[in-house]
Amino acid sequence: MAKYLIVGASAAGLGAVEAIREVDPVGTITVITDEGCSHYSRPMISDFVSGKADLKKINCRTEEFWKEHNVEALMGKKAVALNFTEKTVQLEGGEKVPYEKLLLATGGKPFVPKTEGSEKDGVFTFTTIGDAQRIAAKIDAINAKAAVVIGGGLIGISVTEALVKRGLKVTMVELQDKILSLLVDAKGSDIMEAVVRKAGVNVVTGQSVQNILGRPDNDGAVGGVLLTKGGQVPCDLVIMAIGVIPRTELVVGSTVKINRGIVVDNMMQTNVPDVYASGDVAEAYDFILNQNRTLPLWPLAVLEGKVAGYNMAGKKTTYAGGTNMSSLKYFGIPLVSVGLANPKEDPTLGILVKEDLEHNIYKKIVLRNNVIVGLTLVNRIERAGILLYLMKNAVNVKKFKEELLSDDFSWATMPTSMQKKMSVVQ
Ligand SMILES: Cc1cc2nc3c(=O)[nH]c(=O)nc-3n(C[C@H](O)[C@H](O)[C@H](O)COP(=O)(O)OP(=O)(O)OC[C@H]3O[C@@H](n4cnc5c(N)ncnc54)[C@H](O)[C@@H]3O)c2cc1C
Repeated sequence: MAKYLIVGASAAGLGAVEAIREVDPVGTITVITDEGCSHYSRPMISDFVSGKADLKKINCRTEEFWKEHNVEALMGKKAVALNFTEKTVQLEGGEKVPYEKLLLATGGKPFVPKTEGSEKDGVFTFTTIGDAQRIAAKIDAINAKAAVVIGGGLIGISVTEALVKRGLKVTMVELQDKILSLLVDAKGSDIMEAVVRKAGVNVVTGQSVQNILGRPDNDGAVGGVLLTKGGQVPCDLVIMAIGVIPRTELVVGSTVKINRGIVVDNMMQTNVPDVYASGDVAEAYDFILNQNRTLPLWPLAVLEGKVAGYNMAGKKTTYAGGTNMSSLKYFGIPLVSVGLANPKEDPTLGILVKEDLEHNIYKKIVLRNNVIVGLTLVNRIERAGILLYLMKNAVNVKKFKEELLSDDFSWATMPTSMQKKMSVVQ
């Protein structure tokens, strides 16, 4: 019997393995993953498409990881059913794996809207290394020249940049009026859109793709798209990059509580005894919104997996919470977005802004009761660490808020009393 059984071997699953082994060097750990290899950095799959990195370079653990941690890794195996009474997980093919403690780290799956023509050869999603390999192989096989990326969010911009680097003409289609609207406000988005356009990308906002069209000589292969407002864009590939939704299929219909994702407490336990969940599939605590929700981010998945692992192994640990935190660099522009970066109109919030649009610089802080609850830094991100510290520790910044966005803001520019207080908390 596996003492610890983990379904999913990516950020959350790997975090859990490491935490369990810190506490329990001998208990048997079995990991099930339906990917052939899943210990790679998902955010880096775009580097595989662009040609910047091979599989080895984007692996976040070595091949020896499983051996070193004494883990039985069942690769390429899909878990299809759970039985909480007999405490087993059934694999495709019928085999049952028993457990004492179970972690569901099944992550997310791409959201794919129903679109006529989506079965055509040349339509891809973009969430796994398998997707990246298939896209790269297709580009080579047909000498692809043009692609349409559906989605102008984080995943959309990452695959767009990769395709541009590979020399394709890319059209990015975003349903909202602005790209990256979950990360930045209208001004931040305008900067990013201008930069993306400058790199040769055709950005289409406020509409989506109605139909995927075939080629005149082969209707089964992608030849273009018809936009919802009527225009046509010829292309060889279509990438659906709209976002991910929690992969809850294993627990749907079971007694495990689900909202959007699996509901967990602050020890990452579900409502079913000895069953835990972490990562993109779980709804964990957001310290800015003061509520549990899904937050599909790599570092948070690792942390949540670690918390689950410690608790599974008997070391009581609580999750302090995370929030929307992205730090990225696409098309040469570094961008940090944390918490309420793009809040709706709200008279209880204070907004501080500093901009130098000529140099694509935009900095914005959102305050509630003089505590930072949102942060956006575009193309000038040097102060991210200290601002994040103030945010995480809910420091009242009233006395020095006018300084926060200045280029030379540092610990030294804060009132001495505050510096002393913070050296105690640090
Ligand atoms: C293109 C892209 C770019 C991204 N960029 C960033 C970024 O810049 N910053 C950031 O913080 N985050 C980024 N993310 C998000 C980040 O990758 C995820 O938050 C993270 O991978 C979540 O880890 P996880 O372990 O919860 O799930 P996942 O990484 O989704 O892994 C879940 C694993 O479980 C397996 N699995 C699921 N169900 C079963 C089953 N029934 N049986 C067996 N195996 C199963 C899956 O195949 C998968 O291997 C990006 C994601 C993508 C796709």
